[in-house]
Amino acid sequence: MNDLLRTYFDAWPGVWAMDTARYVVAATLMAAIVAAFWQSGLARRKLQNRSATGGDIRREILASLRSALIFSLMGTVVIVGVRQGWVTLYTDFAAAGPLYLVLSLAFMLVAHDAYFYWMHRAMHHRRLFRLFHRHHHLSQTPTPWAAYSFSVPEAIVQGAFVPLFLTLVPMHGLALFGFGIIQIARNVMGHAGTELHPRAFGPGHWLGWNNTTTHHDLHHQTGRYNYGLYFRWWDKLMGTEHPDYRRKFEAIAATGVTP
Ligand SMILES: [Zn+2]
Ligand SMILES: [Zn+2]
Repeated sequence: MNDLLRTYFDAWPGVWAMDTARYVVAATLMAAIVAAFWQSGLARRKLQNRSATGGDIRREILASLRSALIFSLMGTVVIVGVRQGWVTLYTDFAAAGPLYLVLSLAFMLVAHDAYFYWMHRAMHHRRLFRLFHRHHHLSQTPTPWAAYSFSVPEAIVQGAFVPLFLTLVPMHGLALFGFGIIQIARNVMGHAGTELHPRAFGPGHWLGWNNTTTHHDLHHQTGRYNYGLYFRWWDKLMGTEHPDYRRKFEAIAATGVTP
């Protein structure tokens, strides 16, 4: 038991630093990109008339740093799990080959999208909303800083996915790292407040199965539709996609401003 605790506390500072840095770097980079290209086009792709206040941004940053702390406390359990043999996180490329690495990463994203959709819908239930998810919706006009802006109970639910998934599916360390990068990148893009995706991501176009900034921003505007994270599949299947999504995305694409 003492050995397990020592392993946990030895590993935790590194995991915390990584989880925090991932958020800080991604949100800072996204905010900097939005600011840099604001005058040259992104201002015309802004999704709401309202603008986030300084108080909104402060709340989003503080809650996100708290969530990163919670994710690290939960994620460190994975490292103990690896040492104990409960979790297979391998580093040898020859162990399963590049195809497995890519497929396991793709599968992890599809599984995370399903987990997120159903947890998210459950948290919108009137009995659960206040405790779990109201905090995230304090961001009526989200900014990239809202990426991890969750209440403590919601951060625990969100942080449970990676440890749960890893107990079921062996992963290469690089695939897990790639998942972490894609997850935060898509998250800050969804909260950017201005449409970052080119027309190819619009409904009916070849990348239209992906979510866009308009898609998640409509969720914050209405609190009713567009529960998915990366893909539109679950919203389409369950009839929860915003009825005006296509029209609103096309209207922005039609400004002719390319991001
Ligand atoms: Zn959101
Ligand atoms: Zn929501």
